[in-house]
Amino acid sequence: MSTAIYPQRFNGKYRAIKDIVASLLLFIYMGGAWVTYERGYGMPNQAILIDLPERKAYLFGIIIWPDELYYLTFLLILGAIGLFICTTLFGRVWCGYTCPHTTMVDVFMMVERVLQGDRNARIKLDAEEMSSEKFIKKSLTHIVWIVLSFLFGFGWVGYFYDVKLLSVDVLNFKVTSNGLLWLLTLTFTTYVFAGFLREKVCVYMCPYGRFQSGLIDNDTILVTYHDWRGEPRGKDENSGDCINCYKCVVACPMGIDIRNGLQMPCIGCGLCVDACDEVMSKLEKPRGLIEYTSANASKILQENWQHSKNTVTKMVLSHKVILYCGVFLIALCTLMGTLIFKKPITFQVDKENLQLFTLTSDRNIRNTYNIYILNKIPKPQNNLCLSIKGLPNALLNVQALGSNYEKQQCLALKPGESFESQVFVLEPYEDFKNATQKYFNFDFILQSEDSFSISSVFYVKK
Ligand code: SF4
Ligand code: SF4
Repeated sequence: MSTAIYPQRFNGKYRAIKDIVASLLLFIYMGGAWVTYERGYGMPNQAILIDLPERKAYLFGIIIWPDELYYLTFLLILGAIGLFICTTLFGRVWCGYTCPHTTMVDVFMMVERVLQGDRNARIKLDAEEMSSEKFIKKSLTHIVWIVLSFLFGFGWVGYFYDVKLLSVDVLNFKVTSNGLLWLLTLTFTTYVFAGFLREKVCVYMCPYGRFQSGLIDNDTILVTYHDWRGEPRGKDENSGDCINCYKCVVACPMGIDIRNGLQMPCIGCGLCVDACDEVMSKLEKPRGLIEYTSANASKILQENWQHSKNTVTKMVLSHKVILYCGVFLIALCTLMGTLIFKKPITFQVDKENLQLFTLTSDRNIRNTYNIYILNKIPKPQNNLCLSIKGLPNALLNVQALGSNYEKQQCLALKPGESFESQVFVLEPYEDFKNATQKYFNFDFILQSEDSFSISSVFYVKK
């Protein structure tokens, strides 16, 4: 199957930016899971790991525990608002420079260019009858694409599956069924999407391009063709600056002609800018017939073209952008605040409400609670002691630790270990026989390096 679009490579500023960004992203996609971070005490030393079976996420020094998965929701909200801000200011540059799909399409095109030649050579090769040379070039291209797709899929699965273990499992054909499914799915979809579907994914499958028109306005900086300068197209003396060479069209990976105005498939990659700038330089005309600018800045440039041929494109912070930035900052500060002040030990107490209290045969009042403790500190906690404050003669019995009633009961937890138990709290009936209240407030105290307290109530009457 051949692709209908044969983009030509033009060197220039935006091509260079794209190449640098793509190199960094490829490292993140394919090598990021190999970055290590020492946490000690039997914890994984992979810097970024999302452990789905254990419902934990590791991000360098930050560990997200099962009861903190709302952080991931926060991150998704931050990502969405960030994308809104970026689109309102600069259009679809996320697609042009950082989207995993466009990055892989770029890499696949580079492989095509190296193995089959640039645009004209590829068009010629596709038009030729099958020959040994064509067969070798095409086969090599597909082999490299499949290897790259596998590395891409492996890199992503590595973020969810101890990457060293994944390598050993792949070499020994022992990958878990879930891991294998994801590995094969990502390899297959990358090969098909980046190899064959390319711009069709951006136009027909990705919803982002559809709602970008709702975010942009006349101050959004977009790849713009200055029609007032370029038209009428041609090479005679009455023509505008556009000589109708079609270099901007053949440079476009989406196969569109930016001279027809802003179009939904345009991913804002700027490759047509490089192509046209090269043409303008050769013609000794001012560069920037196609450039990143806003509709408003283009109008100002048109009005001042006789005096100044330089666009002064300003980033305009409209009310909409300021609102998005405000929401983004609030969400970011909330996330940072909760991360900084998050408790290193989860300690939860719930009153067992089926029976408010029990009067025992030896004339004590007993209330029952359920406790849950999770050690999120990356080192063992050998002396976690549970006691009570606010009930003068209370004794407690932690069921999972035995049947003794004590003033204080202690336990040990390894990093990541949790403890759940029913707890009985006992207080002599005599202490409350003249009480007029139905219940008394008291605190459960969990003592470790820090001390945690949780308030609860002790029922003494119906
Ligand atoms: S590259 Fe520039 S001069 Fe050539 S067709 Fe495109 S806009 Fe016109
Ligand atoms: S029109 Fe220009 S900016 Fe838009 S996708 Fe094509 S090359 Fe990229």
